[in-house]
Amino acid sequence: MNLILFGPPAAGKGTQAKRLVNERGYVQLSTGDMLRAARASGSELGRRVAAIMDSGSLVSDEIVIELIAARVEEEPDAPGFIFDGFPRTVAQARALDRMLADHGTGIDLVIRLRVDETQLIERVTRRFEQEGRADDNPESFKKRLTAYNDQTAPLLPIYRSQGKLIEIDGMRDIDDVSRAIAAALDFDSGSDPDD
Ligand code: AMP
Repeated sequence: MNLILFGPPAAGKGTQAKRLVNERGYVQLSTGDMLRAARASGSELGRRVAAIMDSGSLVSDEIVIELIAARVEEEPDAPGFIFDGFPRTVAQARALDRMLADHGTGIDLVIRLRVDETQLIERVTRRFEQEGRADDNPESFKKRLTAYNDQTAPLLPIYRSQGKLIEIDGMRDIDDVSRAIAAALDFDSGSDPDD
């Protein structure tokens, strides 16, 4: 089972991905986490992407596609991947399909967490106060939302037309969202959730 957790920044993708890792042993592939790790390590890549990330823009497709491809290669025995924050552009989605096809697999489900912008802004304002993440400042966050609406949301009709898109209300509390995701996964894999 390979799934994409889809949604705007601060929709709760990372939180839900971590739960699925613990509960189902899937491998979480978060390009945001990979890029932050590159920055923390002081690598050349990290230095190259720092200013772009802090401004709230997307880094280049080449960079994130390469990061994801390397991680997919490293995990030949993964029972499934959770793509979190990737793909974010049509070019990334195409590259992902090709990469998985090379391994005889593909995307099974795209789970969209729907959260309205007022709540996203509330969440991020709180997170900025608590954690001080540079790209959570109001100016950068506005840019991240614009990047999502302009470059990432156009993927939704593509996945919908492939019959892979499941929409979940991400405004409910974390446990309710997790339960809705679990039900979608169990339904898709044909297992009875009561087993
Ligand atoms: P995230 O933690 O997923 O919100 O990512 C933080 C920042 O990393 C984004 O605002 C982008 O600058 C960069 N980033 C993460 N994933 C991608 C991606 N798939 N494509 C382009 N930029 C990305």
